[in-house]
Amino acid sequence: MRLSRYFLPVLKETPAEAQIVSHRYMLRAGMIKQASAGIYSWLPLGYKVLKKIENIVHEEQVRAGHIPMLMPTLQSADLWRESGRYDDYGQEMLRITDRNDRDMLYGPTNEELITDIFRSYVKSYKDLPLTLYHIQWKFRDEIRPRFGVMRGREFLMKDGYNFDLTREDALHAYNRHLVSYLRSYERMGLQAIPMRADGGPIGGDYTHEFLVLAETGESEVFYDSAVTDLSFGDRDINYDDVAQCQSILEEFTTRYARTDETHDDAVFNEVPEAQRRVARGIEVGQIFYFGTKYSDAMGASVQDGDGNQVPVHMGSHGIGVSRLLGAIIEANHDDKGIIWPEGVTPFHAGIVNLRQGDSACDAACHGIQLALENKGLEPLYDDRDERAGAKFATMDLIGLPWRITVGPRGLEKNVVELTSRRTGESEELSAEAAVDRLCQIYGV
Ligand code: ATP
Ligand code: MG
Repeated sequence: MRLSRYFLPVLKETPAEAQIVSHRYMLRAGMIKQASAGIYSWLPLGYKVLKKIENIVHEEQVRAGHIPMLMPTLQSADLWRESGRYDDYGQEMLRITDRNDRDMLYGPTNEELITDIFRSYVKSYKDLPLTLYHIQWKFRDEIRPRFGVMRGREFLMKDGYNFDLTREDALHAYNRHLVSYLRSYERMGLQAIPMRADGGPIGGDYTHEFLVLAETGESEVFYDSAVTDLSFGDRDINYDDVAQCQSILEEFTTRYARTDETHDDAVFNEVPEAQRRVARGIEVGQIFYFGTKYSDAMGASVQDGDGNQVPVHMGSHGIGVSRLLGAIIEANHDDKGIIWPEGVTPFHAGIVNLRQGDSACDAACHGIQLALENKGLEPLYDDRDERAGAKFATMDLIGLPWRITVGPRGLEKNVVELTSRRTGESEELSAEAAVDRLCQIYGV
């Protein structure tokens, strides 16, 4: 993509309304534009990252054996009356009346709708286990929408629902989700720590939240610093292997790590003092096992092997897809801008032409662009007639992990410069070698 043909409305000034760095950079880098309080348009650069995150979430869910589908944003109030949550949910629920005076709502979550789908079709234990999920916009009329996409009113969430015959099977589904979530966050370049949490309006006391440590996080967290040494890394996972999933859950959740709702001073004090940490975190996901709460209320049952009708055991699992953009930026930036992890970067590399209009520079830049595109990579070529300083500032702000700089002096020596956004280190090498290096880095 040539920058001159792209739509990247970069702002020079820091927007006054943005209190935290991720919000500031998302506005300045032309990623989002507020449409109304807590509701955003996703401009091309922001949309690209959103899609990358969504894609990682999809891939990891499918890998875990979970089945994608799509439910609507608007739901009928009747189902929520059945579960009893129509009244419980309170002001956060956006209620709408259609032209026939029917009560509708913009879904804040989907337990009711999925349970209705399940009970309409699934009658036998032979159809279990089953985990369905979707990635869909949610609406919660938050009292204080703020921090950009971090606490929006309209936001994109992956929500998944498991249906199992027994508690043991449902707990395996819970573990599978924990493992697939750990993998997903790591692919996005994030450390998200599973912490024991509170059920809230979804219910259930078997639940973990995933938190990214950041000073700007809204949750207070208490943990044993040893949890920050854990990393998922490259492991072969068999999601049908109950013992393997259980042992990963134990590895990641045995040490003390809790949000303030479940924090217990007495237990925390057993952690060696030097390892006790009180900090702040951003919640990027949550998993629940809630037993038969919704299946009892809504009559979702199956026939078991002995011919008895039994309610199914359920859990639900959410990832804050749009919030993750904010969390990733909070964890990856410097005073010049964003530093995207390779797994989610909107473009794989920037190409900066130091002398636009010079035929050798123009040809070299275009050649590098084509070579990368032919390998399936997406470069962003800054071909504008701008000063070098302005081009570098834009590249630093939008945070592409790699930059190839092409100038007349280098070309005389047959070299270009490859610069890492994260370390700032540069290396001179031929254009071909720079392309090869990027292919190596991105595994193409
Ligand atoms: P919070 O405590 O932050 O209000 P929650 O516990 O109510 O979130 P869940 O129902 O667990 O949220 O939703 C799953 C995920 O969706 C959360 O972990 C979070 O990442 C994301 N999320 C929830 N509310 C918002 C919001 N208002 N804006 C953006 N993302 C959100
Ligand atoms: Mg939550």
